[in-house]
Amino acid sequence: MNISVASGKGGTGKTTIALALATLLSQRGIHAAILDCDVEEPNVNLFLKADIHSVDTVYTPVPSVDEARCNGCGKCEQMCRFSAIVIVGGKPLVLPDMCHSCGGCYRVCPEKAIQEIPKEIGGIEEGLKGNLHYAGGRLRIGEPMAAPLIKEVKQYACDADVRVIDCPPGTSCSAIESVRGSDYVILIAEPTPFGLNDLQIIVGMLRQIEVGFGVVINKSDIGDDRVYRYCREEAVAVLASIPYSPESASEYASGFYHEAFIERFSAEFYSIITSVFSGKLKGVCRNE
Ligand code: SF4
Ligand code: SF4
Repeated sequence: MNISVASGKGGTGKTTIALALATLLSQRGIHAAILDCDVEEPNVNLFLKADIHSVDTVYTPVPSVDEARCNGCGKCEQMCRFSAIVIVGGKPLVLPDMCHSCGGCYRVCPEKAIQEIPKEIGGIEEGLKGNLHYAGGRLRIGEPMAAPLIKEVKQYACDADVRVIDCPPGTSCSAIESVRGSDYVILIAEPTPFGLNDLQIIVGMLRQIEVGFGVVINKSDIGDDRVYRYCREEAVAVLASIPYSPESASEYASGFYHEAFIERFSAEFYSIITSVFSGKLKGVCRNE
């Protein structure tokens, strides 16, 4: 079962809530994993502090042209809808950072002049904290496309009963790739005008890709009631409301956030777990 934790914008508390849920599930004897798919700014393990036992380098294939074979016909350029291969001076020029590794140019080349070569896009570390399995991606600096690396992160810990996926914020390709295939998405939102705007955008995205979701309102005692009204009018489930806590902010700054945070808001986290998992995982909910 894959549960994604996502938000319309950064800084909503998404990672710490994802981590708290994964930790609680693990503490209740569930074989759980947390996957850090926020590969441009991975920070799950800053707080989890799992022992890392392996780091894998991830590559994606990009084309390389054998100029001796190439006849300059331009079919590769015509095929590439990402403008990652262009004809300059009668010969193809490959722009690897624009390439989406679709393989189209290899297939259309009449001279078999194009080969795949690997391009490093980042790494994935894997570890354990207690019984909680952790895997997190880190995009190579300067690498523009996160989605292929996110796809790879989602191949880890497949034997876990529940995988909690910490998604990148927003509604970009990488956010969509992260939630794709999820059984449920927990959206973290703040009750502010900006928070409402970003929530509306990500709700629209999830409705398009037809994934079930509910909302956790974080720092629920700031702002106004417009997020609550929106959820009511749109029949969006509010799974829990977590008030602002100055203690949590200070623990976050010192890097010792998640265990104290879980303790402080355990009632709220059990409410989320009860709503999301009720009837699906026996023994997880507090009252079962
Ligand atoms: S593999 Fe696809 S995206 Fe990359 S250059 Fe070839 S056609 Fe373009
Ligand atoms: S399709 Fe092949 S032969 Fe034609 S320009 Fe591209 S690399 Fe050269």
